[in-house]
Amino acid sequence: MRSRRLWGAGLALLSLLLPALPVAAQQGSVQQDCLRYSERLGSVKAQSCDHPGWYRADALSRQGRPILLRDLPADSEYAPRVLVVGGIHGDELSAISIVFDWLRRLDADGGAGIHWRLTPSMNPDGLFARPASRTNAAGVDLNRNLPTPQWERFSRIYWERRTGRNPRRYPGEQPLSEPETQWLAAEIEAFRPHVIVSVHAPYGIVDFDGPAAAPRRIGHLSLNLLGTYPGSLGNYAGVQRGISVLTVELPSAGIMPSESEMQAIWTDLGHWVLREIRQNMEPLPPQRVRTAQDRAADER
Ligand SMILES: [Zn+2]
Repeated sequence: MRSRRLWGAGLALLSLLLPALPVAAQQGSVQQDCLRYSERLGSVKAQSCDHPGWYRADALSRQGRPILLRDLPADSEYAPRVLVVGGIHGDELSAISIVFDWLRRLDADGGAGIHWRLTPSMNPDGLFARPASRTNAAGVDLNRNLPTPQWERFSRIYWERRTGRNPRRYPGEQPLSEPETQWLAAEIEAFRPHVIVSVHAPYGIVDFDGPAAAPRRIGHLSLNLLGTYPGSLGNYAGVQRGISVLTVELPSAGIMPSESEMQAIWTDLGHWVLREIRQNMEPLPPQRVRTAQDRAADER
């Protein structure tokens, strides 16, 4: 009896000491995390989650959701590197689903000697909100929160004067105020990609920032240089850091392109990436390839 009372007191004390678990307290496997995407997005097949290469980023979203990644290393640690970022805006559902489609094509056809790293959804709180939201859980537009020059001044001016304080485009109080953008900046620093492909919707174009020659079209999407915004990924990585950033804007946030359009987008994207890398790749320090042990460590 006495020991049971002690147990009860101990558990009560423990529950006081432990912080409340975030909404998406991480339990289960990374495959189960992935299956939530398949449940949320009709065009993501559950089989996409079977692949053992899925892993969680070192950071969680503001609400504690994992950011999932897959790495498709090349044979050489000196291989050129491409980082694909889907769903920085959580309500652009096609821009998340298509990264799963690209993974399927990479698994089938191989990565053409490139070290690919892909995250389908870097704003999972936005995706899993009901309804899905462009911003993260703190109401910040993550594509305005990266640390571009004089961010404090220009991001505020832009938000107030150009967007009329549109809450969908709120840049946050400070650059890198959000865990998702902190993760992205650290990932770019660690992975040192030669090319970043960022996927959005629904403008139906491709945009480009960086030192390389922009593609004239990718599939049925024509080049349309929209200019840069304070705090955007194109500005941060493309203009400031000299990494070629290709922004793919799919034509609809809620409807996937047709199979033939997706095939054409993937073919042109691959050709452009290879051409861009051949012409502009400067040798960068090698990138250690993640091993099965690394991924097992992530699971612990
Ligand atoms: Zn977007």
